[in-house]
Amino acid sequence: MSEQAYKYLEKQLFNEKVSSYCSCKNQQYVLSMMVSYSPNPVRCINCQDLINPASINMPTDLFQALAEWSISHSAIQWLGFQAEGYESWTDTELHNINSSINKEGLDLRKHIKHEFPVLYWYSRDPEANNTNCPICNSHTQEVKHMYSRSFQCNKCDIALAP
Ligand SMILES: [Zn+2]
Ligand SMILES: [Zn+2]
Repeated sequence: MSEQAYKYLEKQLFNEKVSSYCSCKNQQYVLSMMVSYSPNPVRCINCQDLINPASINMPTDLFQALAEWSISHSAIQWLGFQAEGYESWTDTELHNINSSINKEGLDLRKHIKHEFPVLYWYSRDPEANNTNCPICNSHTQEVKHMYSRSFQCNKCDIALAP
């Protein structure tokens, strides 16, 4: 990534106009639970609001990698939701745990896990009716949140869409 692109993302991330960041007492971070269309993919799984990036202690290289990945992830979702003809491609990318975007996301998560604990949001195929963990295939635990719920594998730190 060029210096210029990096500066742009940094500005976007820290000057982003966000109406409200998460203020939960017990924040639980999750990566890309919803479409961000921003360099910040970190949300609170409980209230679904974005986490203020300034509140996370994140080394610059990880911040950069996270921002790049978030833009790619958003672009894939944008194509599926807004551009005609990409729906099935987007579904394949998001629902396949071994797709490039999920592999990159999981790899990134492995690195940032040392800085702050974060779940990886897996957008499972709602028609497959399978809530087992896509990584270890274990039975997942249903967890209730403020507005929704998720299925979680504590071994793999992954959260599945309900
Ligand atoms: Zn919250
Ligand atoms: Zn698992």
